[in-house]
Amino acid sequence: MKRYVHNAKNPNSIGGNTVRAILPEDSNSIWVVTETSVDLFTGDRIEHVLQGTERITSAHRATDGTLFIGTRGGLYEGTRIDTKYKFNKVELFQDPVAEETAIAEDKLGRIWVLLAERGMVCYDRKNNSAIKLDESDGLFSWPEEITTTSKGIMVVNNGQQIAMFDPLTLKLSKNAPLPYLTKLEVNNREAVVAGHPFDDDDFVIINHITVLQELTLDYLHNNFMLEFSAMEMAAPEKNMYRHKLEGYDDDWIETDAKNRTATYGNLPSGTYTFRVKASNHQGIWSENERTLKVIILPPPWRTTWAYTGYGLMIAGLLLWARRSIVQQERLKSNLRIEHIELEKAKEVDRVKTSFFTNISHEFRTPLTLIKGPVQNILDSYKDDPKIQQQLKLVERNSDLLLKLINQLLDLAKLDAGNLKVEKSKGEVMRFVKATGSSFTSLAAQKNISITIDVPEPCYALFDRDKIETILINLINNAIKFTPPNGKVNVRADVKNSSLILNVRDTGIGIPEEQREKIFERFHQVSESHKEVGTGIGLALVKELVSLLEGTITVKSEVGKGSEFIVSLPLEIAEGPEDHKEESAQELSFSQPTVHIVQSKITPEGAATNREETRPHVLVVEDNADLRSFIIESLGNEFTFLEAENGRQGLEVATTEIPDLIISDVMMPEMDGITMAEKIKTDVRSSHIPLILLTAKSTETSKLSGLQSGADDYLTKPFNKHELLLKIRNGITRQRKLREKVMAELMSEAPRKEVLSADEQFLTKVKDEILRQMSNEQLSVESLAEQIGMSRVHLYRKISGLTGMSVNELIRKLRLHRAAQLLQQLWGPVSQVAYEVGFSNLSYFSKVFKEEFGTLPSEYNGIDSPSGSRG
Ligand code: ADP
Repeated sequence: MKRYVHNAKNPNSIGGNTVRAILPEDSNSIWVVTETSVDLFTGDRIEHVLQGTERITSAHRATDGTLFIGTRGGLYEGTRIDTKYKFNKVELFQDPVAEETAIAEDKLGRIWVLLAERGMVCYDRKNNSAIKLDESDGLFSWPEEITTTSKGIMVVNNGQQIAMFDPLTLKLSKNAPLPYLTKLEVNNREAVVAGHPFDDDDFVIINHITVLQELTLDYLHNNFMLEFSAMEMAAPEKNMYRHKLEGYDDDWIETDAKNRTATYGNLPSGTYTFRVKASNHQGIWSENERTLKVIILPPPWRTTWAYTGYGLMIAGLLLWARRSIVQQERLKSNLRIEHIELEKAKEVDRVKTSFFTNISHEFRTPLTLIKGPVQNILDSYKDDPKIQQQLKLVERNSDLLLKLINQLLDLAKLDAGNLKVEKSKGEVMRFVKATGSSFTSLAAQKNISITIDVPEPCYALFDRDKIETILINLINNAIKFTPPNGKVNVRADVKNSSLILNVRDTGIGIPEEQREKIFERFHQVSESHKEVGTGIGLALVKELVSLLEGTITVKSEVGKGSEFIVSLPLEIAEGPEDHKEESAQELSFSQPTVHIVQSKITPEGAATNREETRPHVLVVEDNADLRSFIIESLGNEFTFLEAENGRQGLEVATTEIPDLIISDVMMPEMDGITMAEKIKTDVRSSHIPLILLTAKSTETSKLSGLQSGADDYLTKPFNKHELLLKIRNGITRQRKLREKVMAELMSEAPRKEVLSADEQFLTKVKDEILRQMSNEQLSVESLAEQIGMSRVHLYRKISGLTGMSVNELIRKLRLHRAAQLLQQLWGPVSQVAYEVGFSNLSYFSKVFKEEFGTLPSEYNGIDSPSGSRG
């Protein structure tokens, strides 16, 4: 027997003092395992195969020849390559105190290693996996020895007990490396477990992340990071991890132990599952995995509620759109129908208008043809009240008809665009006041009070005719549709370069539904409106207003009254200083020659200038505005005299002896009718034509006007052209009368039995002149004295009746007497001249030739109007 001991100096001695195991290698060699070395004995030779490890505690030679060496620092695996052995450390566990106390092998070739105080590990070389068993598997601590029975049962003992198990049937899967979630960060801040203090920015979770099964995040916290780890693996730095966020990641993401985190940012809302698996250092993947359900809540606007809301809204919108489209279509078709109806109505109106226009033209000629003769008969039968009454009725109605026709023609002109705006300069407010004032008598007759309010004067360029028509129509309607004791107010204002005309009444009012229609042609509010009309007035007003680029509105309350408001653009002009620059036509409106009552009495013979040759017209009217309106509208064709009432009028008529008198009927102190009577019976004024202005008169007032001797009348509100026409007519008639008077005066024919006051007067004058014919000195004064009249009155009366001055009349009578004498061969020319009051023979010859066209010596009397010899 040969003994071997450890000798540190002899390399061919055993490597340690304490021998742990002796294991046969093959027929030639054995293994001697000491505490500090693993030696291979081959014959005498000792080879130190493994040295310098932790203290060796156990050894085992596997059936395939692999040598397993257990140390306090881990397990070594030694394999033979050719004749050499090579040892590798098997990194089962990282645990430094994993002291292997015993090693055994099962039938599958798996190596079972007892760990001093930790239980046991099964190391599967084929799968490169290691599974630990401990007390939870029924094992005890501090196992010391392990043996395999022939049946393959393993027996473990710790000195006090033994444990047996069949390694082939023992379940080992639970020991696969199970990863844990160790940390959660949300928006880069570690999540705080509920119950711990936290900041506003912190995200709070109900349980620690290691045990949390479900994580719910809102849309503001959709960035998170998960940290994981497999805690019990042997060599954690060699662990590998695979993770995947199901629902987001398509593939598994593999990371190593240094990157044990998974980060997700801006995750869309939804439900995900985070899965993580770990592998041990040998790359063996565990079956087990840690999962965490992650729910990212959608933002409020993407929640189910929100979507339901959107859906409802869209549905609502669609419904609304559909409804509004349907409504619009309906409206459109209604509008279309309305439009067609309107067009139709317009067309009917057009046809009506054009029909009326056509007839109007046809009517106008016969009407004028009626009016002319009527006027003539009226003139001829002045003294027959019956004829006067009837013919005046004819005249009045033809006037009415003519007025209506003119309105229709105006409308037609408007339609054809032929009515043009014609502006002239003037004072607007006085014009409005005067136009309104012309209604005072008409209103008074109906017992309606009319007030006209205008502000201070305003000079402007405006279309008189059209504004007048507008006003007249509105005021006329206001009076027409207002019952007795009502009120009518006319107001004018200038606002922002617009003339605002306001006509208000306390009448019957206009029903709401009629308010727009009254401006249509031929429209009349039927019920309760008993007044007759044509329905043209307001249509014309509206058209005129729009021609003037203005607006008209109506406010009304049935039973309370109506208010028409017209707004017209106004061109403000300079005051009266500018008048020189005005056109002749405007001048005619603004600068008539006016003589006030007290104006100086024109001496005889002074009537030479143009002004004095203009006919003198006396205007008797108590309303100053109306007076000036009349004067203004008649223009500078005449010279005007004014009087405020009948008494004054009579005075002016008898002293100034105008060529024509225009007078109102209703006046204070003396009314127009009384004045007319007095004027017509006064020898000084009886010849003066007189026109009475009456309100829309009843027959009686008209008649009394005519019986009183008025030559004509005019209903207010009158048209200025009409008035002008009447004045001209009056003056022309007067002229014709003069010619007749003169002819009669010069004739030698026997006198009529019945003489008018004027004829009587003239006869008287003629007789007086004839009586004093030979008196060369016969003067106006002496003649006036003889007649019993002042010089001036005589002069005016003679000129009014004959158109001649008194001296002219005397001369004319002298010449006609001379002609008569010459015809009668009364004596030589010189004697005849002397006989008729001419002392200068050549002067006599000259004027005689002027009068008869031939010299007295050659006069044979042929031209004598009614001469007869002998
Ligand atoms: P006419 O007066 O000739 O009938 P208009 O065109 O002037 O025609 O007026 C049309 C209708 O408007 C009248 O018939 C009347 O019914 C109504 N109307 C006009 N002005 C007034 C008013 N001031 N008050 C009440 N109704 C009025």
